[in-house]
Amino acid sequence: MTDSTLLEHSVTRRRFLVVAGGGLVAGAGLLNPVLAKAAPPWSQQMFGLGIASGDPLPNGFVLWTRLAPAPLEGGGMPNRQVPVHWEVSVDESFRRIVRRGVEHARPELAHSVHAEVDGLEPGREYWYRFRAGPQESPVGRALTAPARGASPAELRFAFVSCQDWQNGYWPAYRHLAEENLDFVLHLGDYIYEYGPEAKTRPGSPPARVHEGPEVFSLESYRNRHALYRTDPALQAAHAIAPWIVTFDDHEVENNYASLIPEEGTSPPGDFALRRSNAYRAYYEHMPLRRSSVPAGPGMQIYRRLAWGALAELNVLDTRQYRSDQPCGDGLKNCAERLAPSQTMTGDAQERWLLAGLDSSRARWNVLAQQTIFAEVDFNPAPGSVGPAGLFNVDQWDGYVAQRRRISEFLATRRPANPIVLTGDIHSSWANDVKLDYDDPASPTVASEFVGTSISSDFPAPFIAPVNAALVDNPHIKFFDGLFRGYARCTVTPQEWRTDFRAVATIDTPEAAVFTLRSFSVENGVAGVQA
Ligand code: FE
Ligand code: CA
Repeated sequence: MTDSTLLEHSVTRRRFLVVAGGGLVAGAGLLNPVLAKAAPPWSQQMFGLGIASGDPLPNGFVLWTRLAPAPLEGGGMPNRQVPVHWEVSVDESFRRIVRRGVEHARPELAHSVHAEVDGLEPGREYWYRFRAGPQESPVGRALTAPARGASPAELRFAFVSCQDWQNGYWPAYRHLAEENLDFVLHLGDYIYEYGPEAKTRPGSPPARVHEGPEVFSLESYRNRHALYRTDPALQAAHAIAPWIVTFDDHEVENNYASLIPEEGTSPPGDFALRRSNAYRAYYEHMPLRRSSVPAGPGMQIYRRLAWGALAELNVLDTRQYRSDQPCGDGLKNCAERLAPSQTMTGDAQERWLLAGLDSSRARWNVLAQQTIFAEVDFNPAPGSVGPAGLFNVDQWDGYVAQRRRISEFLATRRPANPIVLTGDIHSSWANDVKLDYDDPASPTVASEFVGTSISSDFPAPFIAPVNAALVDNPHIKFFDGLFRGYARCTVTPQEWRTDFRAVATIDTPEAAVFTLRSFSVENGVAGVQA
């Protein structure tokens, strides 16, 4: 398919105005007091980072954009606030506008806009657009969630993670944008913090290179988010449905844990300051509600969203409050990974999660989170079990006691149909979550789907050892490390189906998509079925 065919859906909605006599030159200086009162450079493209909606509720959603005429150089806006008008319509041609308002794009938040729209009808499709000065944004599609207690016949969504700009293109997003989805769930690694890197993937063409060194300052995190947001496939994916986002590690730094940076790789400086910069830039570029406005190095992002009585999503944060990886990170084994004090979520979030699961009346109860929940023994020696194993201690295998607590809760309190959705590992998996992985007769307490990356690398030499190790992991029903893509979920009251959608290559922006494998979970029966 050609570029224009793939993006026709969104391109036809674009209504950029050609502006005559825009006045100021581009990149009006942020630090120049004379220009602080200047008009924005209206002759430049204001909406070059696209638009987005997010966090659908029964009565509304968040609308997002950022005015950035010079996106890779700090944004290029004058140091003053600028009014941005938004409109929500029930039809794509905006004949019946049902809500409108004004938000101020402020320099403190990089001239981003987060409009929280309410007063809408539950369970329906809307269209939105922005206007700033003489410019109009592209048009986006958003949806409200069904009413609390409503029983929708079907939910269709996709979940994605890990979009390393430097490892390849994002044809997965071109195809995702063609799907008929109610929302998109992003499980983290929206950006990568690294500086320019030599390609490690054998045979890969020089694709795209980060524009500057490893990011640390607020401005460098902003520019990095802006770089990623210039991608047309990503913009198209944001425009077709609301997104529900959470972060993983690379939005700040690889494998950080709370305020502990990854050893030896952090640029010199205060990690709390780095995390403040990273969280702020993340908020500025995501369709998040005011409840997620960062305060210094802290940011409230774990939250709960529902799709009527069909599904409830517990969106988790397993980086900000976690205890340090045990055994020194990497593929390891040590007694420390069993320590009761090891926590992925912190105590408050764990209590919140379990209380929410306990009171949920939803048919499907989702844990939308970052790293693999089920045990994965990477020791390829056949027959090896127990302490001889090798575990990725950045995953829940480094936090065994908390996993056991949650699994015991699922086994005894029995919230309906727990489903764990996972990113981080750049490969596709379907797992049974067991109460006890050393006992083959132990009950399955949940089902886990791990989605592959949009573009981030799963090194080819790892594939054979992981496949060999699966002999010792009978609860793992599927693994693929070869393909990038996204996971598409179709949820009805009777069945959960996950289709692992794969793209043929990420060496070009366009590539064919196909369904690699599909797995389902039957209502009332924990565990994945081929
Ligand atoms: Fe990643
Ligand atoms: Ca990660």
